[in-house]
Amino acid sequence: MEIFARMSEYGYEQVVFCHDPAANLRAIIAIHDTTLGPALGGCRMWPYSSEDEAINDVLRLARGMTYKNAAAGLNLGGGKSVIIGDPKKDKSEALFRAFGRFVQSLQGRYITAEDVGINVEDMDIVHMETDFVTGISAPGSSGDPSLVTAYGVWQGMKACAMEVWHSDSLRGRRVAIQGAGHVGYHLAEHLREEGAEIFVSDINEDNLNRFVRDIGARAVGPDEIYGLDVDIFAPCALGAILNEKTIPVLKAKVVAGSANNQLATTADGDALEARGILYAPDYVINAGGVINVADELEPGGYNHERAMKKAGRVRQNVERVIAIAKRDHVPTYVAADRMAEERIAIMAKLKTKYVPAGLA
Ligand code: NAD
Repeated sequence: MEIFARMSEYGYEQVVFCHDPAANLRAIIAIHDTTLGPALGGCRMWPYSSEDEAINDVLRLARGMTYKNAAAGLNLGGGKSVIIGDPKKDKSEALFRAFGRFVQSLQGRYITAEDVGINVEDMDIVHMETDFVTGISAPGSSGDPSLVTAYGVWQGMKACAMEVWHSDSLRGRRVAIQGAGHVGYHLAEHLREEGAEIFVSDINEDNLNRFVRDIGARAVGPDEIYGLDVDIFAPCALGAILNEKTIPVLKAKVVAGSANNQLATTADGDALEARGILYAPDYVINAGGVINVADELEPGGYNHERAMKKAGRVRQNVERVIAIAKRDHVPTYVAADRMAEERIAIMAKLKTKYVPAGLA
């Protein structure tokens, strides 16, 4: 793979290959863009079948974080890391400490967190070697982000309701939630309080039953959820669920949920637009999660009330996406990228202004 060619194609700043044979560590840290601030993004542990696969993944994910952090209004850039290995077999203290030392060597240009295959205990070991880590168990850490994420999704849903029905009230609206997990449950609490009619699907019986019992929602089958006669479809389970099979059967006017990578392909974003369905771009509406973890970086550490307040801004962010989509006559998934790119461009320009030393 031509790494520099790949880096220049999408403007990556730095790619760090981390190797510690004694600790059996092979990791890659990708820093995409630090215009807005240090690159924050999780560390993924995965048994990649080739180095190319690992490089592709870390580059794609790091760039995604630049957009996510920028669109969330955070003063953070985008980065990500991957550890090549099987999280079921290859974890060790040495591995995570070695990784932590590499993170520390970047002196805060990259701040790590949990991602697929990594848990709080792993990050606690990383923390032994570096200060540039979030999502640890120490006091001042943020913990489960799903309450904050759900609050942001609810607010983003209101922005969509305002656009489509000229009222942000969700009273009486029929909402189909896919996934009765952490975010789905907390989202439903807000919706129930507001008087929405809630439908839910899950493949996990326990989660489904708890949800139905506590929320008073109606359970439907995993495939039935897409074609329900509802106002809003809220994907809160899996990625790639907006695809050529599901989009034609949707009756909802709004798609607004927490799941990552909801569009199977960009053509599916166009298909939603063509069907007149308002899609709240996933990384904009689910930003409460990253807003929550980023709050750990504030002086004095994490503050839940402050994180919730910041997650309320998701509503303005979704409004802004809708405004850009109308301004530029583009689907909302394109508008979301433009919103992020515009913020980065403006801030980059701002940084060229001279500010006397010590004040910058
Ligand atoms: P979770 O694991 O608590 O809940 C997901 C639920 O989806 C589970 O109950 C699971 O059984 C269910 N599910 C799996 N396959 C399903 C299917 N085919 N049909 C219906 N249900 C199915 O996860 P979560 O923390 O609630 O996150 C939900 C989604 O939101 C994930 O895609 C996650 O990546 C994304 N997200 C979460 C956060 C957060 O703060 N937790 C932040 C940003 C994005």
